[in-house]
Amino acid sequence: MEWNVTCPRCGFSGLGRRVLPGSEGLEKILWLLLILPGLTYHSWRVMNARTGCPRCPWDGSRPAEAE
Ligand SMILES: [Zn+2]
Repeated sequence: MEWNVTCPRCGFSGLGRRVLPGSEGLEKILWLLLILPGLTYHSWRVMNARTGCPRCPWDGSRPAEAE
């Protein structure tokens, strides 16, 4: 997994922080309801995790690029 980032916002370069998509609250509810939805949702969040900047709120999303 790629942990080193160069932040396009503040220019920070180094070890990034992990940013999980989705909602932690929703995940807790799913865990409480049943193990399976919680596990599935958790897996989805981890699979889609990005590496963000530890210094500013940048969440690892790339600046607008034409794809
Ligand atoms: Zn930054």
